[in-house]
Amino acid sequence: MTEVSYAVVIPTIGRPGLANLVKAVDGDPAPSCIVVADDRRAATSELDLPQTAAPLLVVHTGGRGPAAARNAGWQAADAEWPEDKWIAFLDDDVVVPVDWCRRLVNDLKDLPDNVAASQAWISVPVPEGRRPTDVERRTLGLNGASWITADMAYRRTALVETGGFDERFPRAFREDADLALRTVRNGYAIAWGERVTTHPLASSTNWRNGLIDSLTDQAGNADNALMRAKYGRRWRSLIGTTPGRTGRHLITSAAAITAVVACAPKHPGRISTVLAATASLVWAGLTAEFAAGRILAGPRTLPEISSMVVTSLLIPPLAVGHRLRGELRVRSAHRASSVKPRAVLFDRDGTLIKDVPYLADPRRVQPVPGARRTLNQLRRQGIAVGVVSNQSGVARGLINPDELARVNARVESLLGPFDTWQVCPHAPDAHCTCRKPEPGMVTAAARELGLTPSECLLIGDIGSDVDAALAAGARAVLVPTRDTKVDEIHHAHVVAAVAPNLRTAVRRHIGRS
Ligand SMILES: [Mg+2]
Ligand SMILES: [Zn+2]
Repeated sequence: MTEVSYAVVIPTIGRPGLANLVKAVDGDPAPSCIVVADDRRAATSELDLPQTAAPLLVVHTGGRGPAAARNAGWQAADAEWPEDKWIAFLDDDVVVPVDWCRRLVNDLKDLPDNVAASQAWISVPVPEGRRPTDVERRTLGLNGASWITADMAYRRTALVETGGFDERFPRAFREDADLALRTVRNGYAIAWGERVTTHPLASSTNWRNGLIDSLTDQAGNADNALMRAKYGRRWRSLIGTTPGRTGRHLITSAAAITAVVACAPKHPGRISTVLAATASLVWAGLTAEFAAGRILAGPRTLPEISSMVVTSLLIPPLAVGHRLRGELRVRSAHRASSVKPRAVLFDRDGTLIKDVPYLADPRRVQPVPGARRTLNQLRRQGIAVGVVSNQSGVARGLINPDELARVNARVESLLGPFDTWQVCPHAPDAHCTCRKPEPGMVTAAARELGLTPSECLLIGDIGSDVDAALAAGARAVLVPTRDTKVDEIHHAHVVAAVAPNLRTAVRRHIGRS
C-alpha cells in the first residue's frame, strides 16, 4: 500500500458537533494535522475542542465565509506540513463513521496521479412518516450530490495549481462546485470514494425561523451571477445542476410591477386596464404555480402551507434583487480590473535583476531574462515604468548611498530609463511607512507619475511586494523565483495574481499594444 499523508481541514462557525467530529478524525492512520478554521464573526469564546493525538491547529478567519476559511486552513496545514499529499475538507456539521481515517486512506491510496480529488457519498436521513419540509428538501438535495466539500479530499498540488477556493463566494454555496470545475478544467478527474458521511437534516426550529431561512437562502442568487460571469450561460450544466427559476422569477416580478404601474393613473384608460388585468393574471398564475409546487412536495401541514404561501409571494422579487446585486458586483469588479494600468512598478532585486543580497557593486548587476524587452514594450505602449525597492543595506551600513546610486545607474544603463525611482533605505525596525509591505513607495510613485495607485500595477517576487501594492490600492502580480515562499505564492493566487515571468505578467495584465 502506498503511503497516504493527509491533513484534515474543518471550517467552523462553532456548531455543536465540532468536538465529536474532531475526535472522530483523530484516528488511525493518523492525519499529519487537524486544522480548525474558526470562522465565527465574533469569536468571543474559545472553541470547545478535545485533546487530540494529532497536532491540532486553530486559525481564525473572522466570518469571511467557508471558502476563505478552507483556504486559510489548507494553507496553514501546507506551511507546517508541506510533505502532505492530500487535504481532506470536512464541514463542521457532518457525522463521520468511527473508522473514517481508515476509510479515507482506503479511498486515496491507489488513486492515479490524474485524479485530484476524492469525494465521499453524502447521506442525509429522510424524515420518517411524512414528506420533508421546504427547508429539509434543500439539505436532502445533498444526497449523493457531487462535488460537495462536506467531505472531500483534494490533492495539495491541485489546490496550489488552482489557488484553492474562490473567496468571492461569501457563503456555503457554489464555492465547492466552482473549485471542482476549475480542477476538472485543469485536466484532472474527481473520483467517488467508498466512504459515506452523514449530513444531518437541517430543520428549522419553528415556523418563523423556517420562513426566514427560505428567504435568506435567496442571497445565493448573487453567487449564481458570479458563476455565470466565470463560466458563461452554460454554467448550470457544467456543474450538473438543474435549471433555476430565475427566468420565471423575473417574469413574476415584472408582471407585478407592470400591474401596479398600469393602475397608477387616476383615470386609467382602456389599454392600462387591460394591461393591468393581464399582468395581474400572469403574476397570480406564476405565483400560484410556484407555491403549489412547494406545498405539494411538502408535509402539507397548516404551518408549512402558510409558510409556503408567504415565501412564494416574497421569493420572486427577493431572488431577482439578489441576482441583480450579484450582476452589478460582477460588473463593477470587472470594470475595476479592466482599467488598463497606466504604470507598472517593479521590485528591483529578484524581479528586474538577479537578487544579490546587499548589492553594492555595479558590475554585479545582472538583469533577469526578458526584462529589457518587457520594459521597452511598455515604454512603446506609453505606459510609465518605475522601481520600488527596499534597500535596508543602507541603514545597516552594508551599502553606502554612493554605491546604491551607482548600482541603480547601472540598472538604468542596462534596462533603460525609469519614470520614477522609489527606494527605502531604512532598517526594518525603523518602522517607516515606505518599506514594503508598507504602501508608502507605491503611493509616492503614483503621485510622482500623476496617477492614482489604482492605475498602477506592481510586479514583485515576494509577498511583501504584493502586500504593499494591495495596501496602497494598486494591483499586483507575483513572479516567483526559487526563493519565493510557497505560502506567499498561494496567498498571491488568492488576493492578486501569479505569473511565471515578467513577459507573461505584462501580457496578461496589460496586453499587447
Ligand atoms: Mg525582491
Ligand atoms: Zn523606509
